[in-house]
Amino acid sequence: MEFQSATDKIGGRYYVSVTSGYYCVNTRKFLIPHGQAGIKAIRGSLAIRLREWINLKKIMADIDSAHPTLVTVVPCFQRDDHMNQLGALQCSECPSGGVVTT
Ligand SMILES: [Zn+2]
Repeated sequence: MEFQSATDKIGGRYYVSVTSGYYCVNTRKFLIPHGQAGIKAIRGSLAIRLREWINLKKIMADIDSAHPTLVTVVPCFQRDDHMNQLGALQCSECPSGGVVTT
């Protein structure tokens, strides 16, 4: 089976994807525009070429050492307020919650 595409949520409103034929890791933000039901990708994304992705992974330990607060960051979906539906729906970082504008 040939690889086609993979997308995964990395936290908040951000998703990362890799697609066959595109030699990059694409990070994109999604939100729910006012008056619309579903989530939409916003303009602009961060596309990192595969060789840049490899280099980024190599220096992650150095980045963590230089900025130790990054290691202790807790994503919104792992916080206590996301243990119930209302809390998650009110989250301003999640695609379905908070006040969303484009
Ligand atoms: Zn959230």
